[in-house]
This record gives sequence, structure tokens and C-alpha cells, in this order.
Amino acid sequence: MTTINQYAMQDPRTQYPQPKFDKQPQSAPGLAQDMDPKPDHGEDSYKGFGRLAGRKALITGADSGIGRAVAIAYGREGADVALSYLPSEEKDAQEVVALLRAAGVKAVALPGDISDEAFSSGLVREAHSSLGGLDILVNVAGKQTAVKEIADLTTEQFEATFRTNVTAMFWLCKAAIPLMKPGATIINTTSIQGYQPSPTLLDYASTKAAIIAFTKALAKQVIEKGIRVNAVAPGPFWTPLQPSGGQPADAIPEFGSKTPIGRPGQPAECAPIYVLLGSQESSYVTAEIYGVTGGNHLP
Ligand code: NAD
Ligand code: MG
Repeated sequence: MTTINQYAMQDPRTQYPQPKFDKQPQSAPGLAQDMDPKPDHGEDSYKGFGRLAGRKALITGADSGIGRAVAIAYGREGADVALSYLPSEEKDAQEVVALLRAAGVKAVALPGDISDEAFSSGLVREAHSSLGGLDILVNVAGKQTAVKEIADLTTEQFEATFRTNVTAMFWLCKAAIPLMKPGATIINTTSIQGYQPSPTLLDYASTKAAIIAFTKALAKQVIEKGIRVNAVAPGPFWTPLQPSGGQPADAIPEFGSKTPIGRPGQPAECAPIYVLLGSQESSYVTAEIYGVTGGNHLP
């Protein structure tokens, strides 16, 4: 693991590993454990300040990458966390559960496939009952598979990407909102791809644009219940999504080099935005899309 003091003043360009990287192909969903260099999810660095004390949060994709960094940050800020991930990711997930328990908060592991409607609705109910409430829903899970040409993009993939990234988010939000009280928040995960789509990510980029519209529309709908809804739009982040088919294998060595900062972001650099949006500190922020892109702008 790359151990960095993320609070020490330093040059952001050299704060974390820069290209080139090994191709390191994995099958999807990849494992954080098998990446080189190991991503920094804040394991050794994230400090909590009580910003989410007593909150109850459900985080999807919480085993690895951005979701794992969010889970660690939320736990250290005092939140009890329910973690959603795929059963094949149990090894990554158990590391997160151990870190949360070490932080002194409740960690509930709820593996399963969110592209199944019954599972998704049950997941929200289970998180609510095992945590004793639901104050924050963080939708991080996502599927990304690069395909060079539309002729090779199958209907199965196109629909599976939408089901995982968009429809599951809809099911999770729909089940969560009736359980939430004023002050609760929902945070979705879109991407710079929603604004500046890559040609190899036709299905994925389209889902990320849909998440932006969904976030804004839902925010305007549920503010009447005192619930805020926002989204985070990351640029290139060093997570297993990318070497497990999210990018063509040839793109991994130079991953992140096309940003002004010149390197991929590490999940730990994204988590503070999710903390801000989940906490009452962002009380006047809703229907917002928050970029964390290494300097490439959104629209
Ligand atoms: P990741 O592979 O670590 O996380 C994705 C997670 O999604 C997996 O860990 C898995 O648990 C979950 N998931 C996928 N399909 C699922 C299913 N059917 N049921 C349950 N869980 C499922 O990669 P990441 O990069 O941290 O991805 C997190 C989010 O960030 C995704 O929404 C992704 O689109 C978004 N994002 C990533 C980048 C990047 O460069 N890594 C950039 C912009 C946006
Ligand atoms: Mg994972």
C-alpha cells in the first residue's frame, strides 16, 4: 500500500504514484488486493473529526476503490456502515469490515448482486434494520467494460451496464427514501465520462450521463422531505475497475497521464468529498455534481 500523509502540505503531482504502470489484467470485478501499486484508500492516513457521528450509512461497492475509501472515512468520522459488494469480492470486503470495527463503529457486510431488484430493495431494508436507521445512501457500485466498436457491443452488456449503474441506483433510492428522515442524504457516483465520453465507453458513459440527470431530478423532488441528493464525478482513479476491463489493457500503463495533475487519483483523494456531502456541513448543497478530476473540467 502507498502510505501517504494526506494532510501534509505537498505537491499534488507527486503525492501519489504516476504513470507508467504495469498492465496487470484481472477479470471483473477485480480485487484491490491484486493491484500494483496498491491503491491508497486512506487505511493508514484518514483521520476522523466526528463529522458523521452516529449516522447510519449504506455504501455500495464498499469493498474496493472509491467505495472502500468512503467506507473507511465514514467509519472514522463515526458512522455505522452497511457494506454492499459482490460475493466474489469477499476478501476485499473483509479487510474493510476489520478496519471499520477497529474504528469502533458497526460494520454489516451484505454481499449480493444489486442488478436484481428484489436483492436491491431487500438490501436497503436489511441495512436499515441492522443499523437501526438509514441516514446516508452512497451509491458507488458500478460496471465499466471498454469495447472499441459499437458492432462488438452486445445487447447483454449494454443492458447489464444500465441495470447495474442506473436501474439499481433507482431501486436503492426508491427503497431508501421512505425510511429516511429530514437531514438524510443520498450521494450517487457519476463520472467525468458523463460529460466527456470516451469512444470506448459508449454504454458506460451513457449511464453516467443518466446518473447526472437522475441526481438533479431526484434532488428537486425529495427536498420537500428534507433529503438532499448530490453526485460525485471522478476523473481517472486507481481502482480495480480499470485493469479488470474498464480500460483497454494498453491504456493502463499511461492511466491518468492526460490530466493536468498528470497521474490517476487515489481513492483516498475522493473520500473527503463524500464525507462533506454526507454531513450537515453541506446543508445548502443539493442537486450538485462535484468534480474530482485531476484538473479536467466537467461540462
Ligand atoms: P471498484 O471496482 O473498486 O468498485 C466498483 C464496485 O462495484 C465493485 O467493488 C463491486 O462491489 C460493485 N459492483 C459492480 N457490479 C455490482 C453488482 N452487480 N452488484 C453489487 N455490486 C456491484 O471501482 P471504482 O473505480 O472504485 O468504482 C466505483 C464507482 O466509481 C463506479 O460507479 C465507477 O463508475 C465510478 N468511477 C470510477 C472512476 C475510475 O477511474 N476508477 C472514474 C469515474 C467514476
Ligand atoms: Mg471491488
